[in-house]
Amino acid sequence: MQPCDVAADLSEILLTEDQISARIAEMCREIERDYAGEELLLVGVLKGAVMVMADLARELTLPITMDWMAVSSYGSSTQSSGVVRILKDLDTALEGRKVLIVEDIIDSGLTLSWLLENLKSRGPASVEVCALLRKPEAATVEVDVRYVGFEIPNAFVVGYGLDYAEKYRNLRGLGILAPHVYEH
Ligand code: 5GP
Repeated sequence: MQPCDVAADLSEILLTEDQISARIAEMCREIERDYAGEELLLVGVLKGAVMVMADLARELTLPITMDWMAVSSYGSSTQSSGVVRILKDLDTALEGRKVLIVEDIIDSGLTLSWLLENLKSRGPASVEVCALLRKPEAATVEVDVRYVGFEIPNAFVVGYGLDYAEKYRNLRGLGILAPHVYEH
């Protein structure tokens, strides 16, 4: 984990860079088996999924295209508001496409279940989900997620694309944010 000056802001390191990249490679082999001979459209959810999208896209040996959506369900607090708004929509039409949503983390599941319904209504051939992280204890809605990297405890985590108030996204690993950072 780097940089060392943020180490004091983490109460625990959950995943190292190596653990994440090994798991992403495994997920890619599964995806390649499931979509052999197909072209896949990866839809990344900004901003948290930037790192997982970049690593997944480069590890996959299938022909892929990438597009991005930005939705908001969080402010800079650590609680889900349940309200989803599109801040940036896709540039690509989905009719007849095989779509794989690439998510950083599924917490309550509210954002993803809304996103799935939204993308399914655009006429794709299929829509599946690949999420690096899932917090099973936090689920308020059940969402069918085909590929899950890691199940993690119900704590607020940062790093590998995930932020607190826009910070920590550049950490190479993933850690639990120490309460002193957000409890003033
Ligand atoms: P959900 O709608 O599933 O509750 O929340 C999904 C979104 O909330 C994620 O895409 C992510 O942006 C944010 N989120 C949920 N849990 C965490 C967390 O532990 N850390 C960070 N940094 N963001 C989170």
